[in-house]
Amino acid sequence: MAAMRAMFEENEKRPEFIKMTKRTLKYIFKIAWKEKKIVYLLFVTKFIAGALGELKLLLLPKLLIDEVEAISIGADVSTHLHNAIIYIAFTIAAEFLSNVLSNIGDSKLNYYSTFFDRILTYELSGKSMEMDFQHTEDPAALDQQNKAKEGISWYSGGVIGILRCFFDIVYNIALMFTSVTLFVFYCPLVLPVQIIGMGLVTYFNYRKQKIAYESFLKLGKINRVFGYYLFEVASQKYGKDTRLYDSSTLMSDRATEYGMESVELFRERATKCCRFDYRSNFANAVRDALSYGYLGYRTLRGLLSLGDFTMCIAATSRLFQSLLGIGRGIQDLSEKCSYAYQFLVYLDYPDALSKGERKVSEGRHEIEFENVSFKYPRSDEYVLKDVNIKIKSGEHLSIVGLNGAGKTTFIKLLCRLYDVSEGRILIDGVDIKEYSEEEYRKLFAVVFQDFQLFAFSLRDNVAMGRADEETNEEKVEEALKLSGLYEDAIKLDKGLDTRLFKSFDENGTELSGGQRQKAAISRALYKDAPIVILDEPTAALDPLAEYEIYKKFDTLVGGKSAIYISHRLSSCKFCDHIAVFSDKTIKEYGTHDELVKKENGIYAEMFAAQAQYYVDVAS
Ligand code: ADP
Repeated sequence: MAAMRAMFEENEKRPEFIKMTKRTLKYIFKIAWKEKKIVYLLFVTKFIAGALGELKLLLLPKLLIDEVEAISIGADVSTHLHNAIIYIAFTIAAEFLSNVLSNIGDSKLNYYSTFFDRILTYELSGKSMEMDFQHTEDPAALDQQNKAKEGISWYSGGVIGILRCFFDIVYNIALMFTSVTLFVFYCPLVLPVQIIGMGLVTYFNYRKQKIAYESFLKLGKINRVFGYYLFEVASQKYGKDTRLYDSSTLMSDRATEYGMESVELFRERATKCCRFDYRSNFANAVRDALSYGYLGYRTLRGLLSLGDFTMCIAATSRLFQSLLGIGRGIQDLSEKCSYAYQFLVYLDYPDALSKGERKVSEGRHEIEFENVSFKYPRSDEYVLKDVNIKIKSGEHLSIVGLNGAGKTTFIKLLCRLYDVSEGRILIDGVDIKEYSEEEYRKLFAVVFQDFQLFAFSLRDNVAMGRADEETNEEKVEEALKLSGLYEDAIKLDKGLDTRLFKSFDENGTELSGGQRQKAAISRALYKDAPIVILDEPTAALDPLAEYEIYKKFDTLVGGKSAIYISHRLSSCKFCDHIAVFSDKTIKEYGTHDELVKKENGIYAEMFAAQAQYYVDVAS
């Protein structure tokens, strides 16, 4: 009774599984058809291989035994011996062909499995790179990304794993009909025994599958955190900090904690699954005893020949295997699809920002912040409050303020990495939400504080072109000259072709902090966008190099609009206006000369404190 109730409860959740299975299958069939139709042919090959194997198992032994039995009861030896030899030849040929076809199918399918793995990985990383920036720090999105990655790979077996499972079901259905037909003719009573046995085993397997899926969902988060502690912080990016702060013990302790949590989860899963394995084994034993007993009884009564008996025994096992195969296959398929479904959920992960269609006009652009306030997602605290500012086209604006004042956040809002919580940002009088994302991003060349260079050649790091776009050599060199990196770059082993970092090339180069920053500035200059934003671009430069950059600033950005965040206030002299961020808003605004004279002004105070550093350099 309790088991029945459990089954009903499980069935109520079934539609969710059916929906996931249907959607995933549709996607998998479509992608297989689009990318490699040949895989369908390979499954047909495997089907034929299987059918030949069944012929060898079911029919040929019966024919052979019937011939031998005929001889043993005194029939014509030469005729029956001749037949027996033909059946033996058929058996050998069927076995051989079945193995050859099966091997061809399997080896090719294994190859295509890797092929599809790559395709799905591209899709996944494409989505990760294109999704709204704010999702990259959203734990829910990151968990989903992890589930997608694991779900579409070894948990589901990918495209080939899922197709293999589907075609196994089709094969087993064909085998089931063949076996049922044999029983209808030879011993129909075995059928209900098989069906009840299969029903029970399927139910027990279904319960096991539910347990496994629930633990997979829990494991997604644990694995992500575990991976972070064990692999990501072990990467070169964190190398200096982990060593200098001796954080390896802390990291390995944390990793062990999460490692134990996943071991515990697996232990719990194994214990629960084991109970259902015992029940399944018992149901199998009862089924065998009843079926074989009944077949033996009919043979002894003379109702079946020895050949029929052999065939029915083989058919009993094939029927059960096929029914079990169908039951398991359906569960396995829905399980695989529910894992792979996480990949589709990730591909469909909703945008956080509304998307507009409007094109950006050519030429110069005026920027306006209108009563802008902002809180980061999942935070209740305002980081910016009532910010109002207009930046005319071609104007150079310097933004200053203490750490945490909201300067970078201001830039992120302007670049629309986040949407404002209140107010509006306008470009040329139009709310930026109305612009098409792709068009809008073309407006900005930004060097963020935490800019990243990639393990490509220096040239590619500057040009960052798409594979189908040709790099403009002259422009790359010009950008490197303007940022002051050119002289260093041509001295590298392979010049501009030198790969950065040593991750993929042992001859790769590690640029100094200052050189990296110059490379990032070159990248922004190469983009040649109408609005240039430099967020503390000179922090890693020595005062002389910094001064050189400032002197060239007008040439660097030409007549474009420029926004420039710096802690070194000497740079502000080069700008048309200065906005001083404090208390979550713009507290002072004006030219350097105006602000420096302001009594008790924040800027004046900051400038006085720093001025001494630069007197010698600038003079
Ligand atoms: P600044 O560039 O002036 O140093 P930021 O704009 O980086 O300041 O940060 C302003 C405030 O916003 C800080 O209190 C910081 O902790 C918070 N903050 C920055 N980034 C995030 C984020 N991704 N999520 C939540 N809070 C953030």
